[in-house]
Amino acid sequence: FSPIHIVGGGLAGSEAAWQIAQGGIPVILHEMRGVRGTDAHKTDDLAELVCSNSFRSDDATTNAVGVLHAEMRLAGSLIMASADANQVPAGGALAVDREGFAAAVTRAIDGHPLITVVREEVAGLPPKEWGLSIIATGPLTAASLAQAIQSETGADALAFFDAIAPIVYTESIDIDICWFQSRYDKIGPGGTGKDYINCPMDEAQYNAFVDALIAGDKTGFKEWEGTPYFDGCLPIEVMAERGRETLRHGPMKPMGLTNAHNPSVKAYAVVQLRQDNALGTLYNMVGFQTKLKYGAQAEVIRMIPGLQNAEFARLGGLHRNTYINSPTLLDRTLALKSRPDIRFAGQITGCEGYVESAAIGLLAGRFAAADRKGETLAAPPATTAFGALLNHITGGHIVSDDEPGKRSFQPMNVNFGLFPPLDPGSITKPEGVKRFRGKDKAIVKKQMTAARALSDCSAWLATTSS
Ligand code: FAD
Repeated sequence: FSPIHIVGGGLAGSEAAWQIAQGGIPVILHEMRGVRGTDAHKTDDLAELVCSNSFRSDDATTNAVGVLHAEMRLAGSLIMASADANQVPAGGALAVDREGFAAAVTRAIDGHPLITVVREEVAGLPPKEWGLSIIATGPLTAASLAQAIQSETGADALAFFDAIAPIVYTESIDIDICWFQSRYDKIGPGGTGKDYINCPMDEAQYNAFVDALIAGDKTGFKEWEGTPYFDGCLPIEVMAERGRETLRHGPMKPMGLTNAHNPSVKAYAVVQLRQDNALGTLYNMVGFQTKLKYGAQAEVIRMIPGLQNAEFARLGGLHRNTYINSPTLLDRTLALKSRPDIRFAGQITGCEGYVESAAIGLLAGRFAAADRKGETLAAPPATTAFGALLNHITGGHIVSDDEPGKRSFQPMNVNFGLFPPLDPGSITKPEGVKRFRGKDKAIVKKQMTAARALSDCSAWLATTSS
C-alpha cells in the first residue's frame, strides 16, 4: 500500500496514524512542532494536552464520555491505552500524568514500523500527489493552512472563534411556563410556526436578571485570543452592560410573541430557545453567547422562568477555535466533498474535547484505511457514542429557518442528547425500585442508552476489518 499522509500529530492525528498503521498501511505524519510552535502547546511531544489533564468521567454506565472511552478501548485506541497506563487518582474521572501520557503516545508512534514522523509545517492543502490524507491540525491550525482551507471551502465555512450559547436538554425545560411559537407565527421552510420555545419575563424578573448578568463572574480572554467581538456575537453580559434596555431590544425582545398560558399579559422580555438537533432533544438559547464562568452561568440562566431546572448539554463560551462547517462540507466518512482524497479529524471538524477529538481521529483513520484497501466501511450506528458524535459533525443539526444562511453548527462535547431516544415502551421500572420518576428514571434511561451503545459498538467493530 502507498502511505496515507496525516497533517497534525495531536490527539486526533496520533490516533488516526495508529489505527491506519495497525491496519497494515504505512503513514507519514507531518507535525510542525519541533520547527514551529503554537500559542498553547509547550512541548514537541505528540498528543500534548494543552490545558486540563482530565479525560472527564470514566463511567461507561451513566456518562456519555465514559461510553466513548469504552468504545475507544474496544477499538484498540492508542490514546486510551496511553491514558490508562498513565492514570492519576481523580475520583470517577480519568485523569493522566500529562508528560507520561504524551511521552507514551510519542514512543508508540515513533516506534511503529509503519509510521514515519516528519517535523514540518504543511503550508497549504495536501497535494493531490499524496493520495489519501487527513487534516488534523486542531483549534490552532497554522495560518497558511487555515487560509488554504478557507479558499477551498469558502469564506463562511471556516470559523476562527466559537461563540457558543448554552444548549439545554429539552426534557429539563418547564413547558407549563414556556410555550412553543415562532415570532409572528412565521413559518419558515420546513417550519411549523411553533419552532421556538419561549420563556416569558415580567419587568421585575428582567431587571433582576440584568443585575445578575452584570454582577456574574466572567472569564477573560487570553492575551493571544485578541478581542473577537464581532457583529451578532456580543456576549449577553456585554450587551447588559451597554444599557438596561439593550437585551430587551436585542435577543430578549418580546415582540410578535403571545404567552399561550396567559395571552392577556404581554411579556416584558422573552428568552427564545431554538431546536438544536434533528432529534429535538436539545435546544439552544438564541443569541445567548456568554463569557460568564460556568457556575455563575448556570445560576443566572436558571433565573429565567421555565429554565429553573435547566440541565445543560453545554454551557456558553467564546474561544479561539478553528473549525470548519462540517455538516455542509464533509461526507459521512469525514471526506471533503470537493476533494474526497482529503479527510478531516479532531477539533477542526467541530467536535469538542480531547476524547472527542481522538475519537474522530480514530474514525477518520479507519475510514481512510478502508478506502486505501478498496473497501467500504459502514459508519458506526447512530446508537453508539462514535455514531452520535459523527452524526453531530456530518449532519443531524438544524439550520435556522428564520435566518437563512446563518451557520448554526457549533462545536460540542459528546452527550446523551446526541443519541437517538429509547423506545418509551422499553423503559421499565427495575425490580425493587419503588419510585420511578425524575432523576431515578433519568438514570435508568442513561444506563439503557449506554448499554445499547456498547453492544451496538461491539457488533459494528465485529464487522470491520481494521
Ligand atoms: P491538537 O491536539 O491541537 O493537534 C493539532 C496538531 O497539529 C498540533 O500538534 C499542531 O502543532 C499541529 N499543526 C497545526 N497546524 C499544522 C500545520 N500546518 N502543519 C503541521 N502541523 C500542524 N479539551 C479538553 O478536553 N480539555 C481541555 O482542558 C481543553 N483545553 C483547551 C485549551 C485550549 C487553549 C485550546 C485551544 C483547546 C482546548 N481543548 C481542551 C480543546 C481540544 O480538546 C484540544 O485542543 C485538543 O488538543 C484537540 O485535539 P486535535 O488533535 O484536534 O488538535
